[in-house]
Amino acid sequence: MTIRKIKGLAIECVQGNIVDQPDMDAIVNAANARLLPGGGVAGAIHRAAGPGLEKECRPLAPIHPGEAVITGGHNLPNRSVIHCLGPVYGKDEPADTLLADCYRNALRIAAEHGIRSVAFPAISTGIFGYPVEAAAKIALKTVLDELPRLSSVNHIRFVLFSSTDHLFYERMLGEAKTKKQALLIDLDGVLYVGDKAITGAAEAVQWLDEEKIPYLFVTNTSSRPRSALVEKLARFGIITDEAVIFSPPVAASQWLKAHAPGPAALFVPQATKTEFNCLEELDPYTESGASSVVIGDLGESWSFPLLNRAFRLLMAEPRPVLVALGMTRYWRGPDGFHLDVAPFVKALEHAADCRAVVLGKPATEFFEAGLAILECPTADTLMIGDDIVGDVHGAQRAGMQGVLVRTGKFRPQDLDGDIKPDAVLDSIAELPAWWENL
Ligand SMILES: [Mg+2]
Repeated sequence: MTIRKIKGLAIECVQGNIVDQPDMDAIVNAANARLLPGGGVAGAIHRAAGPGLEKECRPLAPIHPGEAVITGGHNLPNRSVIHCLGPVYGKDEPADTLLADCYRNALRIAAEHGIRSVAFPAISTGIFGYPVEAAAKIALKTVLDELPRLSSVNHIRFVLFSSTDHLFYERMLGEAKTKKQALLIDLDGVLYVGDKAITGAAEAVQWLDEEKIPYLFVTNTSSRPRSALVEKLARFGIITDEAVIFSPPVAASQWLKAHAPGPAALFVPQATKTEFNCLEELDPYTESGASSVVIGDLGESWSFPLLNRAFRLLMAEPRPVLVALGMTRYWRGPDGFHLDVAPFVKALEHAADCRAVVLGKPATEFFEAGLAILECPTADTLMIGDDIVGDVHGAQRAGMQGVLVRTGKFRPQDLDGDIKPDAVLDSIAELPAWWENL
């Protein structure tokens, strides 16, 4: 059995009987024009559904090649049956268009009825004589072409009765286009710089939604919680929610809960502390007793006493774990470059002679945790960011492709170094056109 996940849709092919697919909302009948029981798939479906199906079908007949109609499932375990009339090969022309129409019309009816899962038999390949390999190609191509319009449908199963048909479909599905299927998207510098949206960013994200391309915003921002990022994005016309944002505080709180569950000394802005609600916070004036010392982006709130407290906590026995919320070296604000988290972590590592656990870009573990949320194979995922090191190189080391945008902190000399982005876009506004040509 082969299952492919393409743009959020699971497509599989199995060898079996179309009337024995109890987990599918709808099955498709390779019907005859009069929607009568007959032989083959139609006969099997009518036998399993009982006489009620034939009665319901009667006023809907006749149908023409390429057409589809829907009825209830009657005694079948499925909610609905979609009846399609495939072309008779060598008689109904153009056969390829009519066969594609069958799949297209069946899927559109399914979407209109809020159906989530559809099982198809091989239409026209039996007594109608359509060559199996050609029919399989049309079936799969039509399903993939219809993807953007499949509002409710998220699972399609091809059920092949014969082992020969099954082999053709298996091969076809395995060879289905493997272009990139999911995206990790950096926020700062890609969708906005400071309080200014990047032109075309909202439209690009809207396009991803319309195309049902799975994506996750992966940011190293630790200066504010996800709720604040959701509000910020909304001001730029990008409607999203916290579940689509993966940030170091989220990764760190999960990691700490599992690996260092004691009191955490949090060097993060007050607002970001909400992301650590599942942990006990160490008293802010204590200089020992921490299980972890968590360093986020405190920006101008850093002071010598504060940095020194983090150092003293790290030197106290038993030694706590140092956690870095990303290792971004700097970021670019409207007034120029700013030190980010990494320089402070490096100072503490050097002084306390320890190594930080990095839960943020460019750590491979952080990208992998994001990929796990997306449920998409690493090799099929792209990371798009404005940081040649944190975004592009980090993604490439994790097995993804890294795309650099010429916005945010991008500098032309970024392209002169050893790190070679898989693509460079002027901005995220170029993403839809570029993606279509992948
Ligand atoms: Mg960035």
